[in-house]
Amino acid sequence: MTGAEPGLHNRGRHHDPAPRMPAVPATPARDEAARLAALQELRVLDTLPEPVYDDIVLLAAQICGTPISLVSLVDSDRQWFKARVGLEAEQTHRDLAFCAHAIVADEPVFVVEDAAKDARFRDNPLVTGAPHIRFYAGAPILTASGQALGTVCVIDVEPRRLDAPQRRALQALARQVGALFELRLATLAAGQHAQVLQRQSDQAAEEQRRSAELLELVLRGGNLGLWDLQVADGGFTANDREHEMLGYATPAERPASLDWRTLVHPEDWPALNAAIVPHLAGQAPFYSCEHRMQHRDGSWVWVLCHAIIAERAAAGAPLRIVGTHMDIGTRIRNRLALTHARELLDHVGALARVGGWQLDIASGKIDWTDELYRILEVEPGTSLQALRNIELYAAADRPVIQAAIDRAIADGTPWDLELTRQTSTGRTLTVRTLGQAQVVDGKTVRLFGSFQDVTERKAVELALADSQRRLRMVTDSVPALIAHIDRDQRYRFLNAHIQREFGIDLATTLGRTMLETRGEATYAKLAPHVEAALRGEKRSFVYTEEVGGRTTHLKSNYVPDIDPAGKVQGFYALTFDVTELHETQRQLELLARVDSLTGLPNRRHFDETLRGAMLRTRRTMRPLAVMFLDIDHFKAINDSLGHAAGDAVLCEVARRLGRCVRTTDLVARLAGDEFVLVLEGVDGVLELGRVADKVVACVRPRIEFEGQALAVTVSLGVTIYRGGEPSASDLLALADAALYQAKQQGRNRFSLV
Ligand code: GH3
Ligand code: MG
Repeated sequence: MTGAEPGLHNRGRHHDPAPRMPAVPATPARDEAARLAALQELRVLDTLPEPVYDDIVLLAAQICGTPISLVSLVDSDRQWFKARVGLEAEQTHRDLAFCAHAIVADEPVFVVEDAAKDARFRDNPLVTGAPHIRFYAGAPILTASGQALGTVCVIDVEPRRLDAPQRRALQALARQVGALFELRLATLAAGQHAQVLQRQSDQAAEEQRRSAELLELVLRGGNLGLWDLQVADGGFTANDREHEMLGYATPAERPASLDWRTLVHPEDWPALNAAIVPHLAGQAPFYSCEHRMQHRDGSWVWVLCHAIIAERAAAGAPLRIVGTHMDIGTRIRNRLALTHARELLDHVGALARVGGWQLDIASGKIDWTDELYRILEVEPGTSLQALRNIELYAAADRPVIQAAIDRAIADGTPWDLELTRQTSTGRTLTVRTLGQAQVVDGKTVRLFGSFQDVTERKAVELALADSQRRLRMVTDSVPALIAHIDRDQRYRFLNAHIQREFGIDLATTLGRTMLETRGEATYAKLAPHVEAALRGEKRSFVYTEEVGGRTTHLKSNYVPDIDPAGKVQGFYALTFDVTELHETQRQLELLARVDSLTGLPNRRHFDETLRGAMLRTRRTMRPLAVMFLDIDHFKAINDSLGHAAGDAVLCEVARRLGRCVRTTDLVARLAGDEFVLVLEGVDGVLELGRVADKVVACVRPRIEFEGQALAVTVSLGVTIYRGGEPSASDLLALADAALYQAKQQGRNRFSLV
C-alpha cells in the first residue's frame, strides 16, 4: 500500500478537509472541545515514533491476527497515527476515519465486521479503494477523566470477527496507551516544573552574579573598603582596598590580625556610638559616620563609614557588623579648606566691609557672602534669584551695571564702578562694585564680584572736595601767595595769586620745583629759608624780586608741615607783596624828617644835618653859619586873616628862603614861624652879612594871599662856628640870642653874634 492511493493523506496535507467521496462522518461528542484540549495538552501529535507504541501495535496485530494495527488519535479534522503497522499513511481525513466512530460509540470495542455490508462505511473510499478495509475493531484510549482521544485498532482487508479474549486484549492495550499518555502528561508537567525551577535558579544565579559584580563595581568605583567585624574581639576581615587604605598595600604586608577597636581615633568614638544607636534600636536600616582610622604610619585617615549589624546576640547586642569605608581625606581637606577660605572671606569681608558674590552662568545660581547680605540689608536665606537686584539700582545706573554684566559675559571684560542703589530696606547707598569673569575655553562660565559700601567715603570725599573748593576760593581771593611745598621742594598747592602776581601759570606749576618756577636768582635768596623750613623751623623774611621790570618787595612766612609722626612733610609758604608798604614806610620815614606844611626839613633833619656839618667843620676847619629866623608879628596875620593865611605865608617864606641860598645850604623849619639856615663853607663875616641881608630882603616883597598883598618881614639871628667846643644846641642858642637882639633892635633885620 502506498500513500498515493485515493483517500489517504500524507503528512502536511491534512488541511484540505474536503472529502473526495461520499461517506458518513461520525458525529463528534458534545464535549469535543474538552477532548481536543486534552489531546493538545498531551502534545503527542506529530511526534516521532516511539518503540513503546510500536510494540503496542505489533502486539495488537499479533493478538487479533490482522495485517494492520494503529494507535490512532482523532484530531479536529484528521486522525493521526502515533504508531502503525501494515499501513504507510501517517494520517487520514477525519471524515473517513473509522476511529472517529469508535471514540463516540460508547462501546468497549467498536467493531465493523464487514464494512462492505455496513451502510456507514460501504462507500468509504478506504473501503472502496486502498487499503480496501473490510474489518475494523478499535478500543478507545481514555484519559483519566474519561475523554476518548483515539483508539488502538486493528484492520483487515477480509471480513472477520474478534473473540472475547482478543477484545479484552485490545482493550488492555488501549488502557496501556492511556496509561502511557498519563505518564507522558506527568512527565510533561514535571518537565515544565523542572524548567521553571531551572529558570528560577538560573535567574537567581544571574542576579547573584550581577549583584556581586555591582558590589565589586561599587566598591571599586567608590574606592570603598569592605570589612566584616567580630564585635567581641574586635577582629576584622577586610578587602584589599580597606587594607590599602590603612597602609597595607600588598597581602604580604598585612598583620595576622587587626584589632578594629584600636584603629578608630579615640576622639571619634562618641560620634560613632551616637550614629549606631538608632540602627541598634531598629530605627535606621544602617548607620553612617565620618571618623578617623589609624594608618599604618601612625597618621589618621578620614573615612565615611556605612555599616549594618549583620548578627545579633539573643539579647540584641551586635555580634557582627559589616560595612564599608570610603577614604574622604581629600573631601575633608577640601571641605576644611573651603570652610577656612569661606570663613576667611567672611572675616576679611566683615573687616574690610567688602561683600562678595559669584554667579554660575549655566545654572544661574548666585552666592553671596555674609557681608553682602549685611551691606544690602537682605535677610539671610532670602532667594537671591527672586530678589529683583537690578531694579534696586538708581534708574540712571541700571543700564550701566547691566551693560557691564553683559560685556563681562560676552568677552570677559572686568568692571569697576561706583553706583547708587538701594538696600532691600530702601536705604540709598553709594557702592563700589568690581566684577571679573572666569573664562573657560573662551566662554564666561562664572562671574565674581566684590561689593563695597562707599557711602560714607563718598560723603567725606564730597565734603572734602567741597571744603577744598571753598579753601581754594578763599585762598584765591587772598592778595598773597599761598603755597604748600613738599620735601622735594615741589609746589603741591598754589593759590591763584601766583598767576595774578607773577604771571606764572598755576596749572603747570603744580608739581614743579621752586628752582624751576622761581628761577636761579630768586631761588638763591630763598634756599637758606627753604632748608630751614624743611628742618622744621619757622621762617619770616623779606626779599626782592624783579617782577615785570619793577623791583617787588616780598615778605615770606614759612611754616613747616609736620605729620603726626613728627616728620617734616614740607612747608606752607605765605608770601605778601610788601612793595607798597615798603614805599609807605620809606615815605613815613621821610615824613619824620620833613615838615609836612612847607616840605622843608624839620627839626630832626636839621639836628642831624647840623651835627654832620659841625663834624665836617671840625675836620676841614671851614666855618659854618647858623641863621635863626623868626617872622615878625606873625600872630597878627593869624589873628587878622586866619590860620590858612598864616600857613600860606609860612609856605611862601619857606619857598623864598630855599631860593635865596645855595642848594647845598640847609633851610629847615623848626617850629611855628621859626626857620633855620645852615650855611657851610662861609668865607668871612662880610660875606656872611651880605647873605644875611639877602635872606631878610627876600621875604620883604609882598606875599599874595586871596587877592591881598601881605607885608611880611623877618628877623634873623646869625652865629658862626669855626670848630671847637660848642655843641649844636649851644650854637642854636647863640643864634637864638642873636635873633632876640635883632627883634630888640626893631625887627626886619639881622644880628650877628
Ligand atoms: P614877634 O615879632 O615878637 O616874633 O611876634 P610874633 O607875633 O611873631 O610872636 P611869635 O613869634 O611868638 O608868634 C608865633 C606865632 O605863630 C604863634 C602861633 O600862633 C603862630 N604859629 C605857630 N605855628 C603856626 C603855623 O604853623 N601856622 C600859623 N598860621 N601860625 C602859626
Ligand atoms: Mg614871630
